[in-house]
Amino acid sequence: MKPAAFDYQSPTSIAEAVQMLAEPPEDGGDVKVLAGGQSLVPLLSLRLATPARIVDINRIPGLTGISEEGGVLTLGALVRQRTAEHSDVVARACPLMAAAIPHIGHTAIRNRGTIGGSIAHADSAAELPTVALCLDAEMVAHGSNGERTIPAAEFFTGFFSTALAEDEILTAVRVRSVAPGTGAAYEELARRHGDFAMVGVAAQVRLDGDTVTEARIALSGVDAQPVRASKAEAALVGHTVDEQTLSAAADAATADLHPASDLHASAAYRKHLAGVLIRRAVRNAATRAKESA
Ligand SMILES: Cc1cc2nc3c(=O)[nH]c(=O)nc-3n(C[C@H](O)[C@H](O)[C@H](O)COP(=O)(O)OP(=O)(O)OC[C@H]3O[C@@H](n4cnc5c(N)ncnc54)[C@H](O)[C@@H]3O)c2cc1C
Repeated sequence: MKPAAFDYQSPTSIAEAVQMLAEPPEDGGDVKVLAGGQSLVPLLSLRLATPARIVDINRIPGLTGISEEGGVLTLGALVRQRTAEHSDVVARACPLMAAAIPHIGHTAIRNRGTIGGSIAHADSAAELPTVALCLDAEMVAHGSNGERTIPAAEFFTGFFSTALAEDEILTAVRVRSVAPGTGAAYEELARRHGDFAMVGVAAQVRLDGDTVTEARIALSGVDAQPVRASKAEAALVGHTVDEQTLSAAADAATADLHPASDLHASAAYRKHLAGVLIRRAVRNAATRAKESA
C-alpha cells in the first residue's frame, strides 16, 4: 500500500513550524511532524496515519546538539539515535541511555530515528520513553504559547499519547548527569534481535560502599505507557544488593502490575519477565556502580 496524499512543508525555524502546525488544513484532517520517519512512514504506508499535512522539521537548525552544562545533559530532539549511541558525552553523563539505545531496532533504524521522535511517539514498548521516565527527564516543547518544560511523569499520558499539544514540537530532552558511584543497565527480552521488547527494564543505582543510596527503575511493555517502579526503588534504598533484596524489589514491582495479554506474550509471562529482568538489571547496574566509584 502507498500513503494517502498529503501536503508537505519544510520549515526552517521553530516559529515557522509551530505556525504550520497551528494552522488547520483547508479540507480538515491532521497535521503531523516528520522527524526520522522510522515510525511515521510505516504508519503512512499502511494508512494507519492519514494526515492532511506533514511538517518536516529536519531543516530547522539547532535541534541536533548534545551538550552537558551545570550537571545537565541536553539532547536536541533531532539527535539521531545512532549519534547518541556513539557519543562520549552521553556515555559519561547518561550511561542508562547509552545502555538502552543499542536495543532499538537495527543500525539502519537508529541512523535515521531521532531521540525526540521516539519520545514523542511514546510507544509503551520503546526504550527511550522508559529511560526518560526512569531518570525524571524534562521535555522542552515549543508551541503557539511559547516554550514550556514537561516533566516525564506528566509527559506520557497513555497509549501512544503525550502531553504535547497539537501545535507543539518537542525540541529538546534534558536529564541530570549521573553522580560518581552510579551504575545503569537496560535489560529486555524480544522474540528476535531488533524487535520491540515484550518487557524491558531500565535501572540506575547509586552506591555508598555496598549500600544503595538511590535507585531508579522503570518498565516498558507492561502497560499503555512506561511505568515507574517506585515500590521496588524503595525496597532497594538502604540495603546491599543481594539475592534477598533483589527478590524484595522484584516482588514489590510486580505486585501492582496488570499487563495485557497479546499475540507476543500472555499477561502472566510478562509479569514473570518483569521480575526476572528487574533482578538482572539491578544486579548489573550495581556491578557498574562499584566499577565507577
Ligand atoms: C523495523 C523497525 C524496528 C523498530 N524497533 C524499535 C525498537 O526496538 N525500539 C524502539 O524504541 N523503536 C523502534 N523502532 C522505532 C524507531 O525507534 C523510531 O525511530 C522512533 O519510534 C520514532 O522516531 P523518528 O525520529 O523516526 O520519528 P518519526 O517516525 O518521524 O515520528 C514518530 C511520531 O512522533 C512525532 N514526532 C516526531 N518528532 C517529533 C517532535 N520533535 N515533536 C513532536 N512530535 C514529533 C511524529 O509526528 C510521529 O507521530 C523501530 C522502527 C522500525 C521501522
